[in-house]
Amino acid sequence: MATTANLRRRGLGCDIECAICGGEEETINHALFLCPPARQVWGLSHFPTSSGCFPSNSVYDNMDSLFWRFQDIPSIDVFPWILWYIWKARNDKLFSNLDSNPVAILQIAEEESKLWSSAQEEPPGTFPQSDPRSLSRSRVPTSNVVREYGSSHRCFVDGSWKVTDQFMGRGWYCISPDGESPTMGASNSRRSLSPLHAEVEALIWAMRCMIGAEKEKVVFLTDCSNLVKMVSSPSEWPAFKTYLDAIEEDKEEFISFAVVQIPRSQNGRAHKLARRARVESLPITYVNNFPSNRLV
Ligand SMILES: [Zn+2]
Repeated sequence: MATTANLRRRGLGCDIECAICGGEEETINHALFLCPPARQVWGLSHFPTSSGCFPSNSVYDNMDSLFWRFQDIPSIDVFPWILWYIWKARNDKLFSNLDSNPVAILQIAEEESKLWSSAQEEPPGTFPQSDPRSLSRSRVPTSNVVREYGSSHRCFVDGSWKVTDQFMGRGWYCISPDGESPTMGASNSRRSLSPLHAEVEALIWAMRCMIGAEKEKVVFLTDCSNLVKMVSSPSEWPAFKTYLDAIEEDKEEFISFAVVQIPRSQNGRAHKLARRARVESLPITYVNNFPSNRLV
């Protein structure tokens, strides 16, 4: 990690003291645990802090606590996200002079951690006979379709809509053809007119996220048959013209583009991301492209 103490050790002539608090040497332990803003975040978290024990002066002790000694704490899995957002807040302050609120840092870490873990849960297995919806859709030989797009990213998309909710949710979960870590996104916005509107908006958002991430060959996978029909024959859906025009225009950004239907049972991850975003009480947007095991 590029703390000032580490940079100095690598021969860069910078000050070793902490640019955030002006105190001591900025070691990894200082930046992630002892610097006052970091301490505040840990103090607000549900990890038990006590003077000298946690956080302590030793980064090894602190990591040991997080990995092993706090095992009985619920949602222990959040700690890599807390570390990551403490580090991001430090960089925001240092490089952009942006102040971060420790409560907000903790909240976003907790949200990300929840989104991440819900996206890791395996979607329920495929039981076409027991699900009438997938019977009508079983004409599409899903796994073959997916295999045909071997060199494309596979981006699962879903919209989540409920008439009584303030927001609708959008979710996507993207798998790379070359084994890179999956990426994902979840966001919400004011509830649109219908579930179908939510599906279309989810696709548009996912497309723009893929364009932003410079992914040029993408097959979008949806469990909404009308979405597939709309994209293939937009003129038959005049009520959705504005949306479909946007899709037509954004399509140009891709070298290879397709929208393919899959059974709902295979869209579990995008579905969960969309649903979680829908039930939030505040507007949120998460786009995430790093695996949790790279954070520490
Ligand atoms: Zn400091």
